[in-house]
Amino acid sequence: MTRFDRQSFLGSGSEARLDEATIGLVGLGGGGSHMARQFAHIGIGGYVAADPDAIEDTNTNRLVGGTLRDAAAARAKTKIARRMIRGLQPHARIVTVCDTWQHATEQLKTCDIIMGAVDGFAEREQLERFARRYLIPYIDIGMDVHDLGKDGFLISGQIIVSTPGSLCLRCCGLITDERLKEEAGKYGAAGSRPQVVWPNGVLASTAVGLAVQLLTPWHPHPPAFTFLEYDGNSGTVSVSAHVEALKGRICPHHPPDETGDPFFDIRKHLEGIEQRPASLWRRALRAAKAWFDGIFGSRSTQTV
Ligand SMILES: [Zn+2]
Repeated sequence: MTRFDRQSFLGSGSEARLDEATIGLVGLGGGGSHMARQFAHIGIGGYVAADPDAIEDTNTNRLVGGTLRDAAAARAKTKIARRMIRGLQPHARIVTVCDTWQHATEQLKTCDIIMGAVDGFAEREQLERFARRYLIPYIDIGMDVHDLGKDGFLISGQIIVSTPGSLCLRCCGLITDERLKEEAGKYGAAGSRPQVVWPNGVLASTAVGLAVQLLTPWHPHPPAFTFLEYDGNSGTVSVSAHVEALKGRICPHHPPDETGDPFFDIRKHLEGIEQRPASLWRRALRAAKAWFDGIFGSRSTQTV
């Protein structure tokens, strides 16, 4: 009997597969701290956790695992995540980078999945582009609070699974030129946006479930592309209305020359990493092949 007995429905090899997996966690605040904790509960063995910030008083309303003592000591969020993971996975392979994720790209390349819980649209777009370049599924979460005037406030959020060859954050309408422009104009103001613990918990939990579904699917039809929307006022998570409208569409935003050479590099890369989950890289290669075949025809398989 192991501590994972109650999740044995994930498959007979699931314990080993989850232990072999490495998850990239970009952003360890309200959303990322929830995800770090849950992945440690589940038994994920490898972590690349990046965040440049230390915890502050104003983070303690939502940063899971962070204490008032941590805030008083201005402890790095990466240290809090490491401590939390170690408490459940003493032998976990943890790489922490107390800096922007752009300083952790070498480490993030080794991840099976990258989870993004970051402020800002430009950050998201860069992270998604990076993940696609290395054929790594990217799961994005984010929440917002909208002032509705006399009707109070609306808490909303989204969870998007973006895999190479499928629809992207721009396809979903999350990233737009207008939003990027508006964000650039408000540079520095993002930190004061309202944030609370429970929407982050819902979004992070849903995202963790989708990641586990990629690693150890417990049913035969896990979707390749997911776009879920959270309505914090009605307490619902549902498939975005955009998904129906996007059916059959091919993402025009990530041209093939932005992707590496998946048919050589990814295999070579995988050889250098011990025991990556077979289902995941096969899935990535299949998705990439379908994408390239769709654009160039089925003969263009070797070079891009
Ligand atoms: Zn797209």
